[in-house]
Amino acid sequence: MSNYYEVLGVSREADAEEIKKAYRRKARQLHPDVAGPGHEEEFKAVSTAYEVLSDPEKRQMYDLGGEEALHGGGFGPGGFAGADFGDLGGIFQSFFGGGAGSRGPASRARRGQDSLVAVEVELSDVAFGATRTVPVDTYVVCTTCGGSCCAPGTDPVTCSQCNGTGTIQRMTRTLLGQVMTSSPCPGCQGYGTVIVTPCKDCSGEGRKHAHQDLEVAIPAGVSTGTRIRMSGRGEAGPAGGPNGDLYLEIHEKRHDFLERDGDDLYTELRVPMTAAALGARFPLQTLDGERQVTVKAGSQPGDEIVLDGLGVGRLRRKGRGDLHVTVVVETPTGLDERQRQLLAELASLRGEDDVAPPREESVMGKLKERFTGR
Ligand code: ZN
Repeated sequence: MSNYYEVLGVSREADAEEIKKAYRRKARQLHPDVAGPGHEEEFKAVSTAYEVLSDPEKRQMYDLGGEEALHGGGFGPGGFAGADFGDLGGIFQSFFGGGAGSRGPASRARRGQDSLVAVEVELSDVAFGATRTVPVDTYVVCTTCGGSCCAPGTDPVTCSQCNGTGTIQRMTRTLLGQVMTSSPCPGCQGYGTVIVTPCKDCSGEGRKHAHQDLEVAIPAGVSTGTRIRMSGRGEAGPAGGPNGDLYLEIHEKRHDFLERDGDDLYTELRVPMTAAALGARFPLQTLDGERQVTVKAGSQPGDEIVLDGLGVGRLRRKGRGDLHVTVVVETPTGLDERQRQLLAELASLRGEDDVAPPREESVMGKLKERFTGR
């Protein structure tokens, strides 16, 4: 941006009166009635320069450090140059349009708010997808007035103060002379119409508070924290405005024996030592009902058996994750005499019978052997 003094066409020594005159002259030259359209940027530059140079404090800061000092100088975020026209904004708008006053009456209808509802779901719901009924506190369109806000059989009346335009125009004396300014009509708050007999059922709001049971679809593959947006299922807007959106926030309950990691599920299968050694088939509860799982002969603790496609459905994709089954080998306890004998015999046959639990003396003995080299 160029030097503010140059923008206004004054010297650095110009006094307040000279600056004011220079600004008036420039602003008049740039007025659309004089200069034609397309001078908005120039007018903005002139206004900004005037706003700074007409304020002794801002002018001093500008003289000391130029524009940088102003931007970093504690006049609020982003400085004020070009961003905020203050009192001049109204004049700027009345020159070039684009202000609130030039759009005609405002509409009472506004969009309803979005709603957020937490939904607790079971693991089977997220695995397969489900339909749930969710209680929601919301707003619905008033059935008495249909959102018009008027008592049945009545209509809004054109505001007599603004003749339905929603704005009041006034001639205001400003620095630049007489300027037409417009502001929202106080008689109708800018709506252009007045509701003389509001609907009694909704107090003229056009919507009512309601408790609804919404049927919602939970897609497969969602997880705790997932938000599902349901377009147009949120609160009805005031005065017949469009509905907001409804967001479902998923909270997944823990399952008794299935752990989830992404699309895959994990569980344990406890098998006796003998079955791990000999091999066997076991029933296993899955989300798809009971399945037979084959534990191979010689299975080790921690071995994993993968059941393809018995996991969680993939979100917005085909297929399902897998079910991972970890084999937990249970060592028999509480052996009776015969069982103990059989195991001892087995150990003997496998040459494992000399593996006695080491006593302290024998450990010491072994250490002694190592140190003496015997
Ligand atoms: Zn109503």
